[in-house]
Parts: sequence; structure tokens; C-alpha cells
Amino acid sequence: IPTPNLTIIVAATLSLGIGKSGTLPWHLPTDLAYFSRVTKRPPPSSSPPTNPVLNTVIMGRKTYFSIPSKSRPLPSRHNIVISRSPRPDSSIDASTWVTSFPDAIDAAAARGGGRVFVIGGAEIYKLAMEDERTRDVLLTSVEGEFGCDRFFPVDVRDEEKTGWARRGHEELCAFVGEEVPAGVREENGMRFWFELYQKP
Ligand code: NDP
Repeated sequence: IPTPNLTIIVAATLSLGIGKSGTLPWHLPTDLAYFSRVTKRPPPSSSPPTNPVLNTVIMGRKTYFSIPSKSRPLPSRHNIVISRSPRPDSSIDASTWVTSFPDAIDAAAARGGGRVFVIGGAEIYKLAMEDERTRDVLLTSVEGEFGCDRFFPVDVRDEEKTGWARRGHEELCAFVGEEVPAGVREENGMRFWFELYQKP
């Protein structure tokens, strides 16, 4: 089975904060809706519609349980949860549990077809950023300080230091398969914007 490329999707402050007290530091419904659309949308090459291709979302155990129980597993996506411990009895649901990052990739590859997104949190982003199969980072940049206690491991915005390259708006739209709103958006008094970074 060929191993898939990995796409990270993350919302982070300009100082790379992504989480606080086990949850998201902000409430940005527009970004949550973007996350939902992008991670659900089948890859452009996939054939419609008799056998719709499901994408995979890979996440850490803490992120999985940060999702309200009525919303998990995330619908219309294959959910893979990484934990060193066995799945708790309280979470017998349609998610797949694995005990390592490589096993998560294998489980995703075994399903075949769809895109594979790494959706957090900080520990799992770190593993993904160390993996050469991670080619794309869909970043929602959020302005402001929120007292974050979890951080994204690499500042992809610093091209010189990290080797990641920011792509233009057209490339972002083509990559996610929708007309992404361009420029700075504002919601609940917070400013944020959508970006794509790639490893050249
Ligand atoms: P994670 O969600 O990354 O989960 C960590 C857990 O993953 C560990 O406790 C362990 O589970 C398991 N794990 C980690 N590494 C390994 C490994 N090598 N092998 C096996 N299992 C492993 O937790 P974080 O605390 O880092 O991140 C959660 C925070 O991030 C929350 O605040 C959340 O809201 C935020 N977040 C923010 C996002 C954003 O876009 N802004 C997106 C996603 C999350 P176990 O303990 O069971 O062994």
C-alpha cells in the first residue's frame, strides 16, 4: 500500500498558540466550518458519487476527547486516535485507535483513497512535522494572545529558518477545492485569515 501524504490543518496565533486548558482558546465558528468542509471534501481526483471516498483525520487522544461526545467521531471522516493506552470502554465508537504515529499512517493507508489530515493536538503535530510525508500545512492565523498552554512546534511562516513556503490565495483555493475567503476576516472581535504552506 503506498503511504499517503499528510496535510496538517491547524489554527494558531502569531506566537503559535493552539490550545488552552484542554480546549481551543477561541470561538471562531467560521474557522470550525472551514475545518469541517475542508476535511470532509473528497480529493479532486476521486471519482463521484457511487462510492464516496472518505478522508481520514488523525488526532491525539486528548484532542479526541476535547470534542463534545455528541460530535465524535467527526462525521463523514475516518477518525484515527493515537494513544499509548487501550481505548477506554467509555469510547466504544466508530473511531480507530492506534498506539503510535506510524500505525496511524498505516491505518490511514489501509483505507486508501481519501486525503489524510493531521488535526492535532500539539504532541501529534510535533510527530507530523518530523515526518517527511507532511507536505502541506493549512494554517488559520489568529491575531491576539489567549494565554495558550499548547503550541504548534514549527513557525512555518519563517521560510528562511524552516524551509516552508507560503502559497498564494489561488493555490490555497485549488488545494482545498473551494473559494476560500481572501484576506483578514473578523469574528467575535478576533481577526484571522486562511493560509497554505508547503514544503518545496
Ligand atoms: P494531543 O491531542 O496531541 O494528545 C496527546 C496524547 O496523544 C498523549 O497523551 C498520548 O495519549 C497520545 N500520544 C502522543 N504521542 C504519542 C506517541 N508517540 N505514541 C502513542 N501515543 C501518543 O494533546 P495536546 O495536549 O498536545 O493537545 C491538545 C490541545 O490542543 C487542546 O487544548 C486542543 O484544544 C488543542 N488543539 C488545537 C487545535 C488548533 O487547531 N488550534 C487542533 C487540535 C487540538 P495517551 O495519554 O492516551 O497515551
